[in-house]
Amino acid sequence: MMSAGLQGTVALVTGASSGIGEATATALAARGAAVACVARRKDRLEALAGRIAAEGGDARVVVADVTDSDQAHEAVEQAVRALGRLDILVNNAGALRRGPFLDGPVSDWELMVRLNLLGSLYCAHAALPHLLRAAQDGPREVADLVNVSSLSGRTVRKNSAVYNATKHAMNAYTESVRQEVAGRRVRVSLVEPASVDTELFTPEVRRMNMAETGATYRRLSAEDVADAIGYMVTRPRHVAISDLLVRPTEQEQR
Ligand code: NDP
Repeated sequence: MMSAGLQGTVALVTGASSGIGEATATALAARGAAVACVARRKDRLEALAGRIAAEGGDARVVVADVTDSDQAHEAVEQAVRALGRLDILVNNAGALRRGPFLDGPVSDWELMVRLNLLGSLYCAHAALPHLLRAAQDGPREVADLVNVSSLSGRTVRKNSAVYNATKHAMNAYTESVRQEVAGRRVRVSLVEPASVDTELFTPEVRRMNMAETGATYRRLSAEDVADAIGYMVTRPRHVAISDLLVRPTEQEQR
């Protein structure tokens, strides 16, 4: 059953094959957006598109590795060719590797910089001309670029140097681009989740988090974050939720 809010709009969600991206694609489709679902795992994307279609929504599968600038650009163009326009980009694909900087495998750093930072920049760059057009001629007279950052984008902790660096960098460029296009009614925003129960928490990351905090609180679900994103992109056109930090209620540590 569709709820009001995004009828006639098109959204593109990166990292839609699992976790926050999958939940966000589902939530935006339920609000009436046609959704382009981008990631590398085609089988997962097809299963998601099937579930959205079964609920009466419209979802398209776009297989792409967003760390490749050409593939990121082509993913956006493919979505626009298939669905006719682009009103919302949710830049969500990301990876987390934790551990001491001294021991850090350089390949982990490269993965996070290429995906969390460069991948999101490529997608934002490719999408912005379409978002600017949608803000001019779209049914909402506003468009949205939501970058999925993290609590790690505003705090720093041990064993997280490069992940922190990529999310802080995302926060910095988000604010700069926000200022650049605000006058043309594209809302460039951050959502900053704290702990969310997704595949991002590999057994190794779980072990390290437990050893550091001993935390046993209930984490957020991917749907909790998707709900926050759904809220951000359905505000009236003169209201921009530029930065939304979402924590599990019982999470004490930064
Ligand atoms: P998941 O591991 O479930 O999702 C990551 C997504 O990114 C997958 O869909 C994956 O799909 C996609 N992805 C990975 N590499 C690429 C690539 N090269 N090209 C395209 N897509 C890619 O984790 P989350 O849902 O938790 O993470 C989503 C975002 O949320 C990340 O940016 C993360 O930093 C952020 N975040 C997560 C938190 C958490 O506690 N879980 C907290 C704060 C922020 P595929 O492998 O099929 O390509």
